[in-house]
Amino acid sequence: MSAMLLNKQKWTEFTGILSGKKVLAPVACGDRFRYAVPAEGKAFSLDFDRPLVPPKSAVFPQTETLYRFQLGKTELAAPQPGEELILLGVRPCDARAIKLVEKLFRWDVDDPYYLRRRELTTVVGLACLEPGLNCFCPSLGGGPASTEGLDLLMVDLGDSYYLEPLTDKGRSLMDLASGLLEEAGEEGLQKKEEAVRRAEEKIRRTVDTDGVPEILPDLWEHPLWQKTAAGCLGCGTCTYLCPTCHCFDIQDEIEGFEARRCRMWDSCMFEEYTLHTSGHNPRPTRRERTRNRINHKYSYFVRKFNVIACVGCGRCVNYCPVNIDLIETLREVKEAQ
Ligand code: SF4
Ligand code: SF4
Repeated sequence: MSAMLLNKQKWTEFTGILSGKKVLAPVACGDRFRYAVPAEGKAFSLDFDRPLVPPKSAVFPQTETLYRFQLGKTELAAPQPGEELILLGVRPCDARAIKLVEKLFRWDVDDPYYLRRRELTTVVGLACLEPGLNCFCPSLGGGPASTEGLDLLMVDLGDSYYLEPLTDKGRSLMDLASGLLEEAGEEGLQKKEEAVRRAEEKIRRTVDTDGVPEILPDLWEHPLWQKTAAGCLGCGTCTYLCPTCHCFDIQDEIEGFEARRCRMWDSCMFEEYTLHTSGHNPRPTRRERTRNRINHKYSYFVRKFNVIACVGCGRCVNYCPVNIDLIETLREVKEAQ
């Protein structure tokens, strides 16, 4: 199936087609948006800003049970494979991030929990036509309508949505709604390209990443880490809201003779993250932790997977309570070489 148009007057019918499936869509939560199952009787809406928590949580939950066990029993009860899921209204940067995180979960060992969820998930993107003040996705190889990690891309053309299928999953979804769609044709394509071009022009911030992965190891003892970390509160916001951060901890929760082993998000910005049982901590202050965060994304991940583990979504800049600005830090890295 080629690109199609969905007239917005048919939106309710379109969402009706999806209603038999589990759909996570942006839902208002105070003055922010987060991905959730819309409340009973409430339609999915694509009228939202950039969601606060990235949708990676759908495939890499903040807390998940790996298995349950009982005293005196040798068998482990692992959770059954989940249900099919449609992630609706994913910003292209967040879809790219899901693809990046997947590299870790396919690395030395295939992670069955993550990969099963990923297999069951259809990612439906919505082009970002109103980029935020601190978006810089083009500097990292993305863009307001980049398609990496998406099964289907939607672009808001005002009175209709442009739907571009990118994988078999995306095509299957469009097949379900084929009665509501009409050919986008050359005119639809031109409108879409014009909308995307205008969005690209709105992106104000840039980062020159050229050479950064190579420069970073030489700046190990550079004063910029002390300076950058000076105001850091160690709150972990920059990592918890980052779509590419993937640090986790594994803990056992025990109640009586039963227990569950859980995996939960962790943050390299927390002191306890690297604290050894002996009391030794190889990253004892925020200087080392800040240095690690930037090195991990912009150097270590590149050495391992040949790509920078940042998609330029700007969340860490937007929500750092003391305005530590990753883009500024990277500029200082470039200047310090
Ligand atoms: S490091 Fe910051 S800008 Fe980059 S992906 Fe994470 S939150 Fe977004
Ligand atoms: S959000 Fe800001 S203050 Fe909080 S840990 Fe990250 S850099 Fe430090």
